[in-house]
Amino acid sequence: MIRLSAITPSGHVQLGNYLGAVRRWAAEGTDEDVYFISDLHAMTSSHNASRLRSLTREQLAVLIAAGVDPRSVAVQSDLVRELGALTWVLECTCTYGEAARMIQFKEKSEGRSSVRLSLLTYPVLMAADILLQGANEVPVGDDQLQHVELARVLARRFNGTYGEVFTVPRAVVPPTAARVRDLADPTRKMAKSAQDAAGTVFVLDPPDLVRRKIQRAVTDDRAEVRYAPDEQPGVANLLEILAACTGKDPKELAGTVQGYAELKEVTAEAVIEELRPVREGTRRLLDDPAELDRARAHGAERSRDRCAHRLDAALRVSGLG
Ligand code: ATP
Ligand code: MG
Repeated sequence: MIRLSAITPSGHVQLGNYLGAVRRWAAEGTDEDVYFISDLHAMTSSHNASRLRSLTREQLAVLIAAGVDPRSVAVQSDLVRELGALTWVLECTCTYGEAARMIQFKEKSEGRSSVRLSLLTYPVLMAADILLQGANEVPVGDDQLQHVELARVLARRFNGTYGEVFTVPRAVVPPTAARVRDLADPTRKMAKSAQDAAGTVFVLDPPDLVRRKIQRAVTDDRAEVRYAPDEQPGVANLLEILAACTGKDPKELAGTVQGYAELKEVTAEAVIEELRPVREGTRRLLDDPAELDRARAHGAERSRDRCAHRLDAALRVSGLG
């Protein structure tokens, strides 16, 4: 069973990425799985070349420091030739209407005067990521379900038209995945590419900064620690973060703290302790470029080896070569 997930180097890894995804990859992943740093996806909106390169490296270090099996981690662009080839063939299997229907495309392109063509086509690249590795399961948040559905449609259509080459993948939405919200605006989810970083805790933030950001988190004027996500989203978010870091239940935790000041204090300490080993491990890896380079080369080779025969078959049956 091969699972495939990805994180896009569109910003520094934030607490939600860690609690909702990376920590799970470390705990449940096997060396069969593939965890991509999807730097190609990061190019679908305006990007800076050297920042992209350094964020890619940083995310690779964070994943390994967090305990994700290094054999399962790969940088997407290390397979750019293979992916480019399959993306073309899959684009020739996909209609314009199917791509233009994607809600993410509509949301991300709305109101912009200039939209990169790749923003429209990247779900096809994502399908190539998934199909090339032969992934059976794709754990995603519900915002990505539509993209996995497209990968399924393209796999079936390709297999039906040319011959059985691809495994049809399944999307899985982890039932208990933590959804961390922005500390400054708890109506939004925390995101690494948010415009304003005041409400975002980054995995590499020093402890003092983490404490400051959590102390400034928006709550409400009820002055009552209850777990009520609809009425008290800010307080509920802090309780959920605390719960995710301590393995306890947010409702029960609500009864153990007296006021907002105490809630923020214990949450900050729990987050700092949860992130400490990841932060220190990442720093160590970033200071040892040789080890990181080795891990990267290894991951690239593994995922390239795994996909070579499938790419050859896809090109051959579709009339190429
Ligand atoms: P971007 O702003 O660029 O979309 P992001 O923070 O949403 O960045 P992604 O690269 O889109 O991060 O997602 C990486 C992984 O982290 C995915 O599995 C996604 O479901 C998960 N994730 C992202 N944000 C959160 C969050 N706030 N809470 C829990 N999980 C999250
Ligand atoms: Mg996202």
